[in-house]
Amino acid sequence: MQQEIQQDYADRFIDTQAQHYIQLSDRIWEYAELGYTEFNSSAAHIEYLERAGFTVRRGVAGIPTAFVAEAGHGGPVIGILGEFDALSGLSQESQILECRTSSEIINGNGHGCGHHLLGTSAHFAAVAVKDYLEREGLPGTVRFYGCPAEEGGYGKTFMVRDGLFDDVDAALTWHPGVMNAIMNINALAVKQVYFRFTGISAHAGGSPHLGRSALDALELMNVGVNFLREHMLPDARIHYAITNAGGSAPNVVQANAEVLYMIRAPQNRQVNELYERVDAIAKGAAMMTGCSVEARFDSACSNILLNTPLNELMHKNLERLGTPAYDDTDLSFADAMQKTTRREEIEMAGRMLTEAWRNPKPLFDTIDRFDPAAAMTIHGSTDVGDVSWVTPTAQCMTSCFAFGTSPHSWQWVSQGKSSIAHKGMVLAAKTIASTAIDLFRDHSLIEAAQKEFERRRRGEPYVSPIPEGEKPPIAGRGTVAG
Ligand SMILES: [Zn+2]
Repeated sequence: MQQEIQQDYADRFIDTQAQHYIQLSDRIWEYAELGYTEFNSSAAHIEYLERAGFTVRRGVAGIPTAFVAEAGHGGPVIGILGEFDALSGLSQESQILECRTSSEIINGNGHGCGHHLLGTSAHFAAVAVKDYLEREGLPGTVRFYGCPAEEGGYGKTFMVRDGLFDDVDAALTWHPGVMNAIMNINALAVKQVYFRFTGISAHAGGSPHLGRSALDALELMNVGVNFLREHMLPDARIHYAITNAGGSAPNVVQANAEVLYMIRAPQNRQVNELYERVDAIAKGAAMMTGCSVEARFDSACSNILLNTPLNELMHKNLERLGTPAYDDTDLSFADAMQKTTRREEIEMAGRMLTEAWRNPKPLFDTIDRFDPAAAMTIHGSTDVGDVSWVTPTAQCMTSCFAFGTSPHSWQWVSQGKSSIAHKGMVLAAKTIASTAIDLFRDHSLIEAAQKEFERRRRGEPYVSPIPEGEKPPIAGRGTVAG
């Protein structure tokens, strides 16, 4: 009973401060900065956190936009993870029903994965927990991790490598989505590597025999990898983007060409095995064409270690809080937005649920059941994986967008400042704050999570997927979708 009163207190704190944090989220939506260049977004978070009484360490792990904000004293230490990077090419007018580039977002980017909500809500939860610890005089440290470049730069993997999570007892986070649920998902480990081919330029008509084409090598590599696909693990994925095709002149034998590969598999070890096969194909392609090839590591992240006790605790809080109340404006906007999607997209979203959600309404209006045995594999990747290998970690998802609209789409950007998104963000903040408060109040919950963490690791030590000596890929950073 006493515990319920305390949780209500955190809920009320979040309700009274909600407008303040909605403004922060909307501001970060407008900045729409790409991974490792989130200077305004990171500064806005720090401004709010310092005002709320947090001590902030800036530029951690050699990343200018990464930071750790801390409050409280002593143990336990609970980490709350936030992101704030956007995606390129997704500039979009807010709250309209068609794909239309925003004239206000001049950098061409958009928050197609909702990380403006993600970072702000996690931050908001940390502030509510700080307030609670102070009010109750409870020992413990709450830490908010400002994690750059989730989308393909994997800032957390570098932050984990630098020991920033070594003393954390448990970590909590969330992701905006189209449903309210525990993220009982296995994401794939991934490695991103550039292959750069070097040949010899020549006049393609006059003296082709003097040239050695780096573009030929690159194309042969891609053909080789496409034949490899049949003989790899069904859950593995390989994607590539040609980042330099050697220029635009067909009458020049291309002396340089570059391709960026993403290699994904359920386990880091499997990624490394598959990478060796891809690397051998690159070398073979270079040999066939008389070129040379250099592989340059970009970034990587690990698969997720799920934690059932922590997920159960978070689910209990999500169920206690229930779904937000939607008004007619929310419902009609979501209905119109859902009509912009295809039936397959709605079915795809439904596959994430433990039970089929028949006749899906425009807004998810329940809390999905949590079944630890129903963990599913999604074929994307997240750097939350690396945190989950060094401390027990749980994630939830709340409904911020019309059911069936897809991540990394114009629809998600369009809905990012809607009241539906704001309501989902507030629900996530309450869920994370309540779960952290439970952990601070009852340390046996942390012990249970740690026991499960050890069981899932099966004695396997965490090995960073970042090769020795590699630095975060900050310079000249574009973005690759996670
Ligand atoms: Zn995301």
